Amino acid sequence: MAGKMVIFSAPSGSGKTTLVHHLLSLPELNLAFSVSATSREKRPHEVAGTDYYFLSADEFKARIDAGEFVEWEEVYKDVFYGTLNSEVERIWSDGKHVIFDVDVVGGLNLKQMYGNRAMAVFVKPPSIGELKRRLEKRGTETSEKLQFRLDKAAEELSYAPKFDQIIVNEGLEQAKIDAVKLVRDFLNK
Ligand code: 5GP
Repeated sequence: MAGKMVIFSAPSGSGKTTLVHHLLSLPELNLAFSVSATSREKRPHEVAGTDYYFLSADEFKARIDAGEFVEWEEVYKDVFYGTLNSEVERIWSDGKHVIFDVDVVGGLNLKQMYGNRAMAVFVKPPSIGELKRRLEKRGTETSEKLQFRLDKAAEELSYAPKFDQIIVNEGLEQAKIDAVKLVRDFLNK
């Protein structure tokens, strides 16, 4: 079986991580999560090696220089995120399809690299106001960081038309149904 890639991108707080977890819970889709590397701080509920590989900024830079990343970005100052070559290889050699939860630019870069082998899905929050409410409820950001994320989200929304598919997350249950259908159709193609 030739492995494929499913890329979920969205402004943070759009619900994409929840959708990705839902897809991963369905064994018939045969998906495995591409664990990204990051130099940001670990949040209390996160598990190293499962949610992210947490690296220092220096370690991250050294691995960029060593050519270990398929794609990487400095999303916030000194905060790097990236996909390791070894992740994609590990998952494909296990006979699974890769699913990514990456930001908008990373998602488009992956799509450009892998073409028809990849499907890029943009998850859209219903509005910026709703996104603000969700991020406040999540409570993981200081107000300064929250504003930064909201400004970034407004910019990221303009990338939606470049994606293969768009899911508008007005309600999680419907968004889950939409996501499963898109992924199933793509993998069966
Ligand atoms: P968070 O800090 O909320 O976990 O993620 C911040 C942003 O970085 C999100 O939009 C997330 O999807 C993105 N991100 C996570 N992993 C990667 C990656 O491997 N590459 C890129 N380009 N972005 C990523």
